[in-house]
Amino acid sequence: MIRALFPGSFDPPTNGHMNIVRRAAGIFDAVSVVIAANPNKHYTFSAEERYRMMEELVSDVPNVDVHLWDRLIVEFAERADAKVMIRGVRALDDFEYEFELSMLNKGLNPRVETILMPTDPQYFVLRSSAIKELARLGGDISTMVPEPVAIAIARKIREGAHT
Ligand code: ADP
Repeated sequence: MIRALFPGSFDPPTNGHMNIVRRAAGIFDAVSVVIAANPNKHYTFSAEERYRMMEELVSDVPNVDVHLWDRLIVEFAERADAKVMIRGVRALDDFEYEFELSMLNKGLNPRVETILMPTDPQYFVLRSSAIKELARLGGDISTMVPEPVAIAIARKIREGAHT
């Protein structure tokens, strides 16, 4: 059985993230979405909120599970016996960053292979930070994020949260 990890911040999950999750679930036996809970990083959505959103969004995909993790992703891979780590790439600057990250992770644990998956073209411009900014300025984000996420972003903005 081959388990793949899909690690990230998911602050919040976008249609681009969900596209990668679903495509990975069609290729691998099992996919674990691993949500970073880095205490030194500022997130718009708390770890719990990001976890609950992702759980809801993958509830119809039987071979996907969701986890919160606050340590090295390769440690999670070791524990979960995952051989593969998926990362999504949009543009060339993503590739540069992801390529370096894969080298770093390979150095930490050579048993885990990173696989870079190019985004499907309609998700090319989707980025959590830009979507939050667009929503804050009153733009329509309904085609960019799943509905529960759009509702959650609107609530954060009403509450005056720093997005
Ligand atoms: P991180 O802080 O780890 O980069 P993100 O939540 O920003 O976390 O992204 C998680 C993964 O999803 C990364 O591999 C990122 O490149 C990928 N990703 C983000 N948006 C998209 C998108 N629109 N299409 C494909 N992959 C994406």
